[in-house]
Amino acid sequence: MKCYMGVDIGSISTKGVIIDEDHQILASQYLWTKGNPIDAVKKLITELKKQIDEKKIEIWGIGTTGSARKLIGAMLGANIVKNEITAHAVGTLSLHPDVRTIFEIGGQDSKIILLEDGIVVDYAMNTLCAAGTGSFLSSQAERLGVAVEDFGDIALKAKKPTKIAARCTVFAESDLVHKMQIGYSKEDIIAGLCKSVAQNYLNNVGKGKKIKGPVIFQGGVSKNIGVKKAFEEEIGMEVIVDENGHLMGALGVAILASKKPFDKKFNFSITEDTFETKGIECHKCPNHCEIICVRKNKELIDAWGNRCDNGIIFKK
Ligand code: SF4
Repeated sequence: MKCYMGVDIGSISTKGVIIDEDHQILASQYLWTKGNPIDAVKKLITELKKQIDEKKIEIWGIGTTGSARKLIGAMLGANIVKNEITAHAVGTLSLHPDVRTIFEIGGQDSKIILLEDGIVVDYAMNTLCAAGTGSFLSSQAERLGVAVEDFGDIALKAKKPTKIAARCTVFAESDLVHKMQIGYSKEDIIAGLCKSVAQNYLNNVGKGKKIKGPVIFQGGVSKNIGVKKAFEEEIGMEVIVDENGHLMGALGVAILASKKPFDKKFNFSITEDTFETKGIECHKCPNHCEIICVRKNKELIDAWGNRCDNGIIFKK
């Protein structure tokens, strides 16, 4: 059976899916990138392989998205390398064709995508400040001595959520310590944090955007029911969290890859190959471009970063 793989590789997490020709998810995996995208993708492919019958399933197209999409695209010989906005929009539309607004809060960044009749009409991303993202919530959970997975349920038990200044991680941390010292309950502090995350998102990444329903909330933070509830209170409408919300980017690029298949099937033995990346400075002109070279088993397979064709040392 002809199938397709999508990989969404971010700085915090790596997600992958295998889909069939009807875009049904046959296998999926979520794991931590741990600062090593090449190793993370090797592990991802090993895990995906365990979930399928290799004799029956052949991969005829691969798409990559996320911050390390180019590197992983080169590594896997992907036929589609797409930005996160397109990938998330395509993936979400395949499951929710009438979606008008996508809230996405990941490990280190957040984005908003507005759609009309299945087309992206506006978007915004926040990659500069970690306040309100998954890594911010994880560090606050650690400070409070609770598992971040329990944040949502604890927040729902709050009687009087306190206000936390979450505009910036430094302010939020000092405000949180202050609230702990003056005796607020953990439940009220955590509910306050969830509310601040939603408000911070709407006032920054969502600033000036006209939010229309259906609204789908995805990314790692969408698993936090406290933040979902806070969003619903802020915008006054239902916020939908899909159980596959964390896979939307991977699903989107897998669907895009299915539209432009390879001329030969993907070989899973790629997990045994060695890959390395190296930055080389071009000195042919004063621009001194840093050219990133990707080698597979010592052989150069891709390179990018040059601002002109003269400095190209390898071209696909
Ligand atoms: S790649 Fe081109 S622009 Fe960049 S340093 Fe080399 S010659 Fe200059």
